[in-house]
Amino acid sequence: MKDHLKSMDTRLIHAGEPRPRVKGAVVMPIFQSANFEDGGGEDYSSVRYIRLNNTPNHQVLHAKLADLEGAEDALVTSSGMAAISTTLLTVLKPGDHVLMQDGLYGGTHELARHDLPGLGIQVDFVDADDPSSWESMVRPQTRAVYVESMTNPLLKVGDLPAVAAFARRHNLVSMIDNTFPSPVGFRPLEHGFTLVLHSATKYLNGHSDLVAGAVCGPADLIRAIRHRVNHYGGSLDPHACFLLQRGMKTLAVRLRHQSASAMALAEMLEAHPLVDRVHYPGLASHADHQRAATLFQGHYSAMLSFDLRGDNRTVDAFLKNLNLAVVAPSLGAVESLVTLPARTSHIGLPPEERARIGIGDGLVRVSVGLEGRDDLVEDFRQALDGVMP
Ligand SMILES: *Cc1c(COP(=O)(O)O)cnc(C)c1O
Repeated sequence: MKDHLKSMDTRLIHAGEPRPRVKGAVVMPIFQSANFEDGGGEDYSSVRYIRLNNTPNHQVLHAKLADLEGAEDALVTSSGMAAISTTLLTVLKPGDHVLMQDGLYGGTHELARHDLPGLGIQVDFVDADDPSSWESMVRPQTRAVYVESMTNPLLKVGDLPAVAAFARRHNLVSMIDNTFPSPVGFRPLEHGFTLVLHSATKYLNGHSDLVAGAVCGPADLIRAIRHRVNHYGGSLDPHACFLLQRGMKTLAVRLRHQSASAMALAEMLEAHPLVDRVHYPGLASHADHQRAATLFQGHYSAMLSFDLRGDNRTVDAFLKNLNLAVVAPSLGAVESLVTLPARTSHIGLPPEERARIGIGDGLVRVSVGLEGRDDLVEDFRQALDGVMP
């Protein structure tokens, strides 16, 4: 059977693994060594030194990630932000212009708003729902477009194939942060994107016990990004590589369970009198449901959010009533996590601006974990029932 025809479940476990296995070890050992005996290679990147991201643990991860995203090559980094910033600073140089989706992940948005202009890179924010409206924004200096597969926390899905087609038409590098759906839910390169980025801290690892990032794409671009990582220093430690490799093997199983639980939770919430609105692309009521159904092949993600009716006291009482879900930032873990975007990720925005983009004080974001489905749904139900007026 050809490797690319095998299922995602199989590839998550076997792709990139060393053959023959190292000393027969079924699980890839950790090579916690800063340097390796070597006579030197063709360039600096091939020197066998830990910062150059080329220990056996890095090599296995690069091969596995490239296989999963259907890319020529891949590179892991010390965090999602290291992957994002290093990639942007490889593709863009002073004088260049980039179009970026409105409402990006907070760290990326701040980087685009404050840091890139300081480096002489111009940014325009655009609506990923309507790429045809971008034509008039393209300048001779425009080099790239940057979007996310799903937005946080309202789970909007832009017209992603149109974004990739727009970029190709204008000869731009198209970049997409695929953290939320992961390659199990969506493989952007199949839809014409140039580069895929990940916060591997989230679903790829899946256990909330490391920080890592990744970028996948054409070999020549990955080589250029690797060159920058080597100099900027955002490399991943071999022990974190080992943990990430271990976590990735169960990605498909985790996501299937988590997405099904997210659907069950979304349906319960949608029917609850204390909930105004549920934002989950798996629900027919979500504005991007049809698009998500086509692009993500039934994997609607394990993230959802909902508008709780009531004042801040109701919201606080609801959070206190939860027994299973942990009130904590981040996402993609085995524990279900709950956050209030108005008090965490979007606290920097003025309240009117937050209201304009749909992030009210009662908006609750949920990262659905791996707990028993009925236990989890029941936990949210009793927490809501407990604050009914
Ligand atoms: C968390 C996150 C990032 C940043 O990743 P880190 O690993 O925390 O640096 C980027 N994009 C998305 C969508 C995220 O959720």
